[in-house]
Amino acid sequence: MTSDSKKTFLPCSRCNIATIQTVLCVADSDVEYMDADGHSGIEPATYTLFRCDGCTRISIYIHSAFNNPQSEFGEQAFPKTLNDIRGAPTTVQQAYFQAKYIKNTSQVAYAILARRVLDAIAQDKCPGERNLAQALQTLAIRGEIPSFLADAMKHIRLFGNAAAHDAAFPINGIHVEMIDSFLEILITHLYVAPAALQEFKLFLGIAKENESDIQ
Ligand SMILES: [Zn+2]
Repeated sequence: MTSDSKKTFLPCSRCNIATIQTVLCVADSDVEYMDADGHSGIEPATYTLFRCDGCTRISIYIHSAFNNPQSEFGEQAFPKTLNDIRGAPTTVQQAYFQAKYIKNTSQVAYAILARRVLDAIAQDKCPGERNLAQALQTLAIRGEIPSFLADAMKHIRLFGNAAAHDAAFPINGIHVEMIDSFLEILITHLYVAPAALQEFKLFLGIAKENESDIQ
């Protein structure tokens, strides 16, 4: 790295602390896309490799005609994040991204906020249930989540409870990463995949926009 490497204001999604990153490399290439008629194409794109001045870790952004022209570097492509959870209500999205935001800053706070993601999901899917444990059980009984996800959710709930009430409760980075993985699987299962399926069926011409039943 040379002393005149460009530095830019760009919050780091990996440590969520530093806001200055150094541009290590800029390269022109392309991105592949598929239009609404199913025809594939290639669009010129610029790839930018950053190193965070705080945690020193690497990120890659891609900018093309598909990105907001006001954004200088486009969107983060690496590390990949679940930044599109369409299909989920605003309450679930807010809870999820609040947990994500704190993930690399406080493991205890993350465990507590991860439990709040479950609360938001429970209020969305089972608004009549008296508590989170009952709501998760109802989701499993209804077949809306498979048993292994119900089991994972139970552990996230208990882990969040312990983090909130026991100051000595041990939490490490592995716990956080595993909770993060299972939350992503859960949200994909409940919201992202059904929305994608609906879109898929629209493209296949076999469903109306508001149809939700799978025959
Ligand atoms: Zn960083």
